[in-house]
Amino acid sequence: MADWNFPKGDLMAGKRGLVMGVANQNSIAWGIAQQLAAQGAEMAFTYQGEALERRVRPLIESIGMDTMISADVTNDDEMDAAFATLKEKYGKLDFVVHAIAYAGKDELKGSMVHNTTREGFARAMDISVFSFIDVCRRASEMMEEGGSIINLTYLGSERVIPSYNVMGVAKAGLEAATRYAARDMGKQGVRVNAISAGPMRTLALMGIKGSKSLMSAGRDMSLLGEDTKMEGVAGAALYLLSPIGASITGEVLHVDAGFHVVGVPEPSEE
Ligand code: NAP
Repeated sequence: MADWNFPKGDLMAGKRGLVMGVANQNSIAWGIAQQLAAQGAEMAFTYQGEALERRVRPLIESIGMDTMISADVTNDDEMDAAFATLKEKYGKLDFVVHAIAYAGKDELKGSMVHNTTREGFARAMDISVFSFIDVCRRASEMMEEGGSIINLTYLGSERVIPSYNVMGVAKAGLEAATRYAARDMGKQGVRVNAISAGPMRTLALMGIKGSKSLMSAGRDMSLLGEDTKMEGVAGAALYLLSPIGASITGEVLHVDAGFHVVGVPEPSEE
């Protein structure tokens, strides 16, 4: 298990939420869930398929949680059932973490122009973008007294990143969807934000060709000269999901050791 260190407190005491996208102990959603639990949050977790249930259950039990709900985001019946279960269990919802994305392996390499199929594009957009819109709509019915929703994005939405391809296009869509959802849900007191995390060693990253060089460039070209830390991403999530993030909505918060502001890397020597 990764050696992360999350500050304890009561910023999330009494708050109940949904976390989507824990696949294993390296998942960004898992780091976020641990930080939220350390601050008193109660959470339900969605998973896809029985194998995932078996892998994720021990993790969530280790932080004192037990609610796992099956939800493939491409399946409307499963999503209906998942939110019905959530409504029955919690009644109202205070926060949602959406940490879900997918693109086919063949699309995450080489040329975007040549490797993106109609089917692959639709699937990437469905899982990585529409699912967020769908979750916002479903969650809004349980957030009549306000709430906070976040998703996870990456700089490949703003800049050209090797192999990121159709996922960069999807992340641009996700960030735009974040702003529109922030408008649509703002008057009911729901804040909607995105965290743009630097490269982190997860299953999703490993699906991208050249993921090792994405990690090393993310570290070596960053202002801090270090990998993006889970503590930073989870801390940003806590900030956005808790009352200390009041008044922040429609934002894309970069947590990437400063990589996103670099134009040209410093020369190693003159
Ligand atoms: P991860 O552990 O592989 O998590 C991705 C999650 O998406 C998995 O739980 C996966 O479930 C889920 N998912 C995919 N298709 C789904 C579907 N149809 N229905 C329900 N769930 C589905 O990787 P991660 O890096 O933590 O990714 C979480 C989020 O962070 C993603 O949005 C990713 O783009 C974003 N992000 C990652 C990085 C990075 O460097 N790792 C950087 C910035 C942003 P299955 O395993 O069952 O498919």
